[in-house]
Amino acid sequence: MRRLFTALSASVLLLAGFTACSPGEDQPPLVVVTTNILGDVVQNVVGDEVTVVTLMKPGADPHSFQISAREASRILSADLIVHNGLGLEVGLEHHLDAARRQGVPMLAVGDALEPPAPGSQAHHGHAHGPPPRDEGGAGNPDESAEAMPDPHFWTDPQQMITVVRAISEGVRKNVRDVNERAIRDHEYAYTAELVALDREMGEAFSRIPPERRKLVTNHHVFGYFADRFGFTLVGAVIPSATTLAAPSAADLHDLTSVLNDAGVETIFAESSQSDKLIRVLADEVNLDVTIIQLYTESLDVEGSPADTYLAMMRTNTERIVTGLSPPE
Ligand SMILES: [Zn+2]
Repeated sequence: MRRLFTALSASVLLLAGFTACSPGEDQPPLVVVTTNILGDVVQNVVGDEVTVVTLMKPGADPHSFQISAREASRILSADLIVHNGLGLEVGLEHHLDAARRQGVPMLAVGDALEPPAPGSQAHHGHAHGPPPRDEGGAGNPDESAEAMPDPHFWTDPQQMITVVRAISEGVRKNVRDVNERAIRDHEYAYTAELVALDREMGEAFSRIPPERRKLVTNHHVFGYFADRFGFTLVGAVIPSATTLAAPSAADLHDLTSVLNDAGVETIFAESSQSDKLIRVLADEVNLDVTIIQLYTESLDVEGSPADTYLAMMRTNTERIVTGLSPPE
């Protein structure tokens, strides 16, 4: 009797399992998003209509973050996977490939963007793998450019407006039972916020004298930003390389001369990374520089100054204006 009961429960469980695993039907619509910046933007576009699951944790590195086995299997039941594309999510590539092979609809939002125009500062993305030792220098990112696209489009709100349109379209096309009218309304409302953000940033940066609009960071992130707001990228402490690469002595030397020539007094460091490398630079070459932290590749926890995309952009704007304004 006991055995029969066990066998019965097992088959009931098995049946229940089958039902839960069958695609669609009883499950609410699900959109899976890779990075937390896009997660916030997608949430704004879909509102309460759809469940949004964001894979990247606050403060993580979008180039290298990993997901659990459970998350990896969950993304296979998504109505739509929204990812950055342009080679950003290297750590997730094989999971995204697996989903693609299973026929899960995928939206690489970077593909919606126009390729950067010739002369743009946004076309020298990272070469992944070890940095090329013999080409380029801290001040010469273009020489080691190769054909890598720059994936960091979110530093320019105008690019994000294009991406929001693509997300809205992708959701309306792929997600079951979605209220198209509501998605459109959210798209327009959030676009209006991005237009306001773009205008605010332009006004704020216009207060920095043009000759002081020079950016040195610890990782090439600001190409699109520089194009949009009239900045020059003077160099990156980690030239044209992955976020994990360490600068060589030659890199440090190159960067030092670039900083001195340009008269740069402020280096911007990503909050999601250790700024140890920059401190080493400041100590080793005896540079008198101020280091200011920016949120550049990841949102931070709720309640922080970068808990949404809009908050992150406003916080960075304020810090860049402070860092580059002439001394009183
Ligand atoms: Zn990056």
